[in-house]
Amino acid sequence: MSMSQTASTGSQMSGHHFSPEVHRSFRAFNPLKQEWIPREFKEATPEEIDAAVTLAAAAFIRYRKMPAAQRAAFLQAIADNIILLGDALLHIASDETGLPLARLRNERDRTTNQLCLFAALITEGSWVNARIDTGTPDVRQMRIPIGVICVFGASNFPLAFSVAGGDTAAALAAGCTVVCKAHPAHPNTSEMVATAIRQSAISTGMPDGVFSLIQGATHETGQQLAIHPLLAAIAFTGSFRGGKALYETATRRPTPIPVYAEMGSVNPVFFLPRILQQKGEALAGQFIQSVTLGVGQFCTNPGIFITNGPDLPHHFIESLQKHISTIPAGFMLTPGILDAYNNGIAGLQEQGAELLANTAASLSQASAALLQISAQKVLAGPSIMHEVFGPSTLHISAGNKQELYQLANTLEGQLTATIHGTEEDLREHIELVDILREKAGRLIINGFPTGVAVNHAMVHGGPWPATTPAAGTSVGTAAIGRFVRPVCFQDFPAWLLPPELQDRNPLGIWRMVNGNFSKTL
Ligand code: NAP
Repeated sequence: MSMSQTASTGSQMSGHHFSPEVHRSFRAFNPLKQEWIPREFKEATPEEIDAAVTLAAAAFIRYRKMPAAQRAAFLQAIADNIILLGDALLHIASDETGLPLARLRNERDRTTNQLCLFAALITEGSWVNARIDTGTPDVRQMRIPIGVICVFGASNFPLAFSVAGGDTAAALAAGCTVVCKAHPAHPNTSEMVATAIRQSAISTGMPDGVFSLIQGATHETGQQLAIHPLLAAIAFTGSFRGGKALYETATRRPTPIPVYAEMGSVNPVFFLPRILQQKGEALAGQFIQSVTLGVGQFCTNPGIFITNGPDLPHHFIESLQKHISTIPAGFMLTPGILDAYNNGIAGLQEQGAELLANTAASLSQASAALLQISAQKVLAGPSIMHEVFGPSTLHISAGNKQELYQLANTLEGQLTATIHGTEEDLREHIELVDILREKAGRLIINGFPTGVAVNHAMVHGGPWPATTPAAGTSVGTAAIGRFVRPVCFQDFPAWLLPPELQDRNPLGIWRMVNGNFSKTL
């Protein structure tokens, strides 16, 4: 089978042929126009899923051994080919998600930049974490790719967390092959990007099946993929329910596999007393911007904020109310996500939260909302501190410092936790920093959690239920660590060692040699 033979009608799989018989079809929805996009997509059949994963497993045998420079050229070509798709890609993505073109242009740049960043990482080479102990026995360790990775594209990042997004870039960089389950909300966008990957694979001489795209709009398709025996791991971004379902499926397999699910969190923001006295009004405006950015459809959206009640300046809450009521209602990614948002707001109110302010309601749009509840109610009842995906935030007002700490201790695992405070505030609340360090993957001082930099130090992950498991990150080059495992070679003859571990260090990488980082032995 050859990649160039891949048919384009009906199925959106690249990297292999597929059977003509199809059982279901679906279409994308344009949230701005509130209409279905005419083109029909076929739900992948079990046979097609099996063919894609089997081909990816065969491709892995060759791909894992390809020199880093060749894999880097592949990643670079994907970035180049995505750029070549031009504005057509952005228009299609906008039709399928309702996201504005400017935002999608930024997202495309982020997507291509992260592909280039991973290309640079593997070209430099030290990411393999080579460790050499030349005693008796002689033991040498490095990281190797694990196999076929199934990537579930996210609805809220049609480019940066979908077909050629961070998970795919990290997996391909590691030397793994990828089968991607496109998010059913943007099948056309997914197909265009998959085509760019397929062309890149051909032009850089990658094995057939190094990447395949699976289209589908039912849980069965995702489940079918998750149980495939040749899969090595799953990477997922989306709802808690979806991530947990896939996690449970993966652990029940005869051969369980890891699921790296990024399921979101409430991203608490703590506003300490002095800073609110000094610049409460300015912070109120910036905070509401963060809450409502992109109609609140970010996993780092600050869903709750906590203040110390007795010291809370009234003008802060008044400013928040004023700012939120100026935010226009916005279209969400899908009708299902809008329903979930509206139900989430209703659920908060049923649990005792009071609606302080919102924007004018509209049937098909989400209105931004500010809600409030006392710490006592939160601490007495079942947790109210769970994600409501969208442009809302819940104010929890603590009665005193102890209650503030109690609330922090009650938090579940988070992607981020933020503290706003003057130096004096921070010195007086050192315990808060200690508590939050145990809760979140990223701690932020005097900033806002939305906007995740893609770099070498970023952590986008956190303890359950933010992610499974907390040891990884899905943003930044450290994300590569999810798709590798360490292997050590004991008393190997020099000629049989991989180049990364040979005495003369032909790749010139940093290694830990007898306990010290060095480029020489
Ligand atoms: P989702 O329902 O979790 O879906 C994400 C992907 O997983 C889709 O490909 C979906 O495909 C698949 N999937 C979901 N449940 C599955 C299951 N039980 N078995 C197998 N596959 C499954 O997320 P969504 O569609 O993007 O949005 C739904 C909700 O997720 C939102 O309202 C929001 O609360 C949350 N969300 C969170 C984040 C975040 O970053 N934290 C991002 C986006 C959305 P099928 O639908 O075809 O099964």
